[in-house]
Amino acid sequence: MQHVGDDKMIVNAARVSFGGDNLAPLSGKDERLLRYLLRHQHGSPFEHNLITFKVVCPIFVDRQMVRHRSGVSKNEISGRYVEMQERNFMPPAFRRQAPSNRQASVEDDGTLDQAAATHIWEEAWRAAYGAYQALLTLGVTREQARGVLPQSLYTESYYTFNVRSLLHFIGLRDHEGAQYETRQFARAMAQLAEPLFPVTFREWRALHAGE
Ligand SMILES: Cc1cc2nc3c(=O)[nH]c(=O)nc-3n(C[C@H](O)[C@H](O)[C@H](O)COP(=O)(O)OP(=O)(O)OC[C@H]3O[C@@H](n4cnc5c(N)ncnc54)[C@H](O)[C@@H]3O)c2cc1C
Repeated sequence: MQHVGDDKMIVNAARVSFGGDNLAPLSGKDERLLRYLLRHQHGSPFEHNLITFKVVCPIFVDRQMVRHRSGVSKNEISGRYVEMQERNFMPPAFRRQAPSNRQASVEDDGTLDQAAATHIWEEAWRAAYGAYQALLTLGVTREQARGVLPQSLYTESYYTFNVRSLLHFIGLRDHEGAQYETRQFARAMAQLAEPLFPVTFREWRALHAGE
């Protein structure tokens, strides 16, 4: 991970409108300004910074991440250039479909046959990855052969956010409504970014507490 900027940079971007930007350490007044900006949705001062993550995640997680368009840059490994490695996400535990919310899941209450589910998942992966290898051995091009690989395959990307787009992403994806697996990535990204912009995150969390 790498980053540019800090809480002070956000304050200075806001203060430049009245010529008040400065190099002094972050003051109590600056912290109150950050709170004000967040509460009143003055978003642009939060865009003058960059946070780059290397994200190695299953394709089904990446498909959700890539929906975040504003203030987000991405470069991803290409299955046309390279042979995809044998990296399969295996859920540590399977969940049931939620009875009321059609896109949500609920913890296993002990009635799900976890061993059978694991076996089916592993067999499907083995068959798919084996087919991929077999197609390559036949001489089929990588860009076509990858079509048989499942969504549990790991992909890897550089994602760059600014603080505004990152907070928006975390708000939507580190949330109980988001898929559990995607939430783990959003939470890890928040944990990495929070020490870099501690006052912004503290005030943003206070604003959204209980949501
Ligand atoms: C729990 C959950 C379930 C979801 N389920 C589905 C689903 O079933 N199917 C599905 O297709 N997607 C689904 N999504 C994706 C969702 O619809 C958004 O595409 C995704 O969350 C990105 O949010 P966003 O558009 O606000 O972010 P960004 O693309 O980063 O945009 C940030 C903000 O910029 C503004 N903006 C960006 N683009 C435009 C534009 N073209 N016009 C006007 N304003 C714009 C908006 O204010 C937007 O909130 C789901 C997301 C979540 C969190």
